[in-house]
Amino acid sequence: MYQKFNRRLDGQTALVTGSSSGIGSAVALALAKEGANVIVNYSRDEEGANKIVASINNDNEAGSAIALRADVSKEDQVQEMFRQSIAHFGTIDILVNNAGLQNDAAIQDMTLAEWQLVIDINLTGQFLCSREAVREFLKRGPRPEVSVATGKIICMSSVHEVIPWGGHINYAASKGGVMMLMKSMAQELGPKKIRINSIAPGAIKTPINKEAWDTPEAEKELLKLIPYNRVGETSDIGSIAAWLASDESDYIHGTTIFVDGGMTLYPGFYGNG
Ligand code: NAD
Repeated sequence: MYQKFNRRLDGQTALVTGSSSGIGSAVALALAKEGANVIVNYSRDEEGANKIVASINNDNEAGSAIALRADVSKEDQVQEMFRQSIAHFGTIDILVNNAGLQNDAAIQDMTLAEWQLVIDINLTGQFLCSREAVREFLKRGPRPEVSVATGKIICMSSVHEVIPWGGHINYAASKGGVMMLMKSMAQELGPKKIRINSIAPGAIKTPINKEAWDTPEAEKELLKLIPYNRVGETSDIGSIAAWLASDESDYIHGTTIFVDGGMTLYPGFYGNG
């Protein structure tokens, strides 16, 4: 896929949660290509994280990278990750709240633990990381030499912040929550020049949804939901994240950018009714 890099994030540091795989790793690579230093957060997959770090550090034109383990749903681990990140790179300019998972069940079968796990990681994790980032942005103040904004937060949401998703109520509720977390933080922190937005991917080929695209039959079914008629690639999200973190998008604040090939156009209604 064609991607153009313009070193739009030179001198900045970005923390990308859950970036040892999938969308997060593509975002980490795209931000690094723009010149940012990157903290590759992971919870279990140390090998995956180290691979992303190596590919960034082996690229002479990219920023530099380190891997840090932390479970984003655990307050003490998140605080320690921020402490180590700031000790290593001096500050943080960009947070990408990407870590997330699904744990699906029909409501009558869903345990409290299955509900809670998804809410804790997908929603509370975004709160905990955002709070630490905001504390750092407010403490250090503006850095006009690298960006117009004092800090930037990108929340990885989903088309399911607006499309209801039976069989996945914990996931849809977490992403609906992310939408209002993002908008409320944006309202609160805009006056402090902290710029906050979400990206809502549609169907992107990653481990989270492999069964939805890894056979021709499954992919054909999935394409019925995508007017633009292709399943998304992780680089589709990486390029949008790089732009959204850069000053080129400085007047975009408190918005969700849907990157979904038209999934939110509800194609099932085409020609119907
Ligand atoms: P993925 O499974 O490859 O990535 C999720 C990442 O989050 C993994 O690296 C995982 O290790 C990490 N993670 C899980 N629990 C964690 C925790 N407690 N602490 C830290 N990291 C943790 O799947 P993905 O598709 O790349 O998902 C990334 C984000 O994109 C998620 O928030 C997901 O909801 C969102 N999303 C994905 C799609 C899609 O079609 N793939 C669509 C909409 C939204």
